[in-house]
Parts: sequence; C-alpha cells; structure tokens
Amino acid sequence: MNLPIFTTPGELDRYLQCHRSRSIGFVPTMGALHLGHQGLIDRARTENNTVIVSIFVNPLQFGANEDLDRYPRQLELDLVLCQSAGVDALFVPTTESIEIADTLTQVIPPPAMMSGLCGCSRIGHFQGVATIVTKLFNIVRPDRAYFGEKDAQQLAIVRRIVRDLYIPVEIVGCPTIRADSGLALSSRNQYLSPLGRSQAAVIYRSLQQAQLLAQQGEQNARSLLAVVAHELATVPEFQLEYLELVDLDTLQSIDTLSQPALVAIAGRIENTRLIDNIVIGK
Ligand code: AMP
Repeated sequence: MNLPIFTTPGELDRYLQCHRSRSIGFVPTMGALHLGHQGLIDRARTENNTVIVSIFVNPLQFGANEDLDRYPRQLELDLVLCQSAGVDALFVPTTESIEIADTLTQVIPPPAMMSGLCGCSRIGHFQGVATIVTKLFNIVRPDRAYFGEKDAQQLAIVRRIVRDLYIPVEIVGCPTIRADSGLALSSRNQYLSPLGRSQAAVIYRSLQQAQLLAQQGEQNARSLLAVVAHELATVPEFQLEYLELVDLDTLQSIDTLSQPALVAIAGRIENTRLIDNIVIGK
C-alpha cells in the first residue's frame, strides 16, 4: 500500500507544499468508511487535483453518554477504500498531534442553529464539530471540502461558519447514499442486527411520504409531518426523537412550505441513534 498517511499537521503541510499551486479537495471523516463516504471522495476526485481524507474520531463532538469508546475504528479497511478510490493522502491525527485539550479555543456556531434538531439531545456536539472542522480547514487549507447532506444540520452549520469567518474554502454538499432498502448508510448501522436494519428502512419510507404529499401540493407542515409520523408508527420498535420541517439554511421550524425545506428525523432502533432527512418542495 503506497497511500501516504500523516499524523501531524507539519508532515501533512510538507507533503502539500508541492500540491498547493493546484486544487486540493478535502473530505473530513470519522473513519469506518462506507459507500456514503466514498460518494464524497468520488466527487472530490473529479473536481480536484489532490484529494485528502482525514480520519479522526473527534472526542469533542461526543457527549458523556454517547458512543465515543465503541465508535467503530477500522483503519486497515479504510485504507483499502481510500486507496481504491484514488485518495492521494490520508490525515489521521491524534488528539495530541492536533492539540485537543480542555483549554482549546472553541468555535461557537450561532446558538439558534445548534439548539434544535440534533442539538436538543446532543449538547455541545455542533460546537465540537465546528471547532474540529475549523482546525482541519486551517491545517489542510483545501480549495473545496465535501460534506454529506445526510448530516444536514452539520452541513448548514459548516456553511455558516465558513461564511461568517471568511474561511477560504468552498463547501460542497453531496447527496445521501442509501442501501437498497432506502436506509441512509452510516458507520453506526454496524450496530444494528439484520432485523434492525430492515426496520430502520421505515425512516426513509416515511420521508418519501412527505415528498409525495408535497408534490401533490400540500404545504401545511402539520399535514406533511402527520403522514411521516403515521408511516413511522408502522414500526413500533422505532423510537422517535424528533420529526421536524425546517428551513434549509436557518434550520428554524416552518409552518408552511413556500420554498424547498428539510424534513428531518432522528430516532433509535435497537438503541442505535439514526438520522435522515429529505428536501421537499423543490
Ligand atoms: P462521519 O464519518 O460520519 O463523520 O461522516 C463524514 C462525512 O461523510 C460527513 O460529511 C457525512 O455527512 C458524510 N456521510 C456519512 N454518511 C453518508 C451517506 N450515507 N451519504 C452521504 N454522505 C455521508
């Protein structure tokens, strides 16, 4: 395997010195790579001369009772995927090499964008994401960075940080890659049994109901969300955390669908937390 792997910002910077005159595409991940990540890498590959993937299970974005310790780590397999997808180099920092300490400078996104959706149950999560993503942007200094639409709140917040802080990077949102059942691919799907995975397909099925109703002209948020809730209820094992219709950019709840908006869901199956969303009203 001849894929270069760097663990310190200095090593990566030395490698990138002779690549900086041409475009650099960057895909930040937490590893346990799957076809969803590969979608981002493929897009970066087509749009840039050099593609850098980072793998870092960011402790700042996990709450005290979350799955930091059991989060899947499979670097060898990740290397194989990156190599075959044509990644040029991997950045795999440690908490020491990028100086993650309690005294770290933090990036705080607008509270209104963090307080709803996943932010309700994941206190501090988006501040942790924002802090690490900003750090990685400053280390890699990419021309473009690729993020999945599956994590829509993260994508909207990253776009906002980049805009507010004048970070010179173009943020590229990439469509959600799904299993044949419709289940959004996620590193956490590994926690699910085969039965759990098939039950989890209800999430996307229910989102499609909202899309269908919106296509038929329904604009009332309550009605749109009611069909989603009705479909979700067909799988009682799914424990709903939230179901909301929000503005794509501000992430604030909306009552009437007058422009494209996001139906977002989070919930648990077999105690595994899953999220998904769909844009309706296009
Ligand atoms: P993660 O490793 O889970 O932090 O994800 C790294 C990046 O991959 C994020 O921008 C995610 O939104 C994106 N991603 C994860 N799963 C998918 C998927 N199924 N389709 C598209 N992008 C994804």
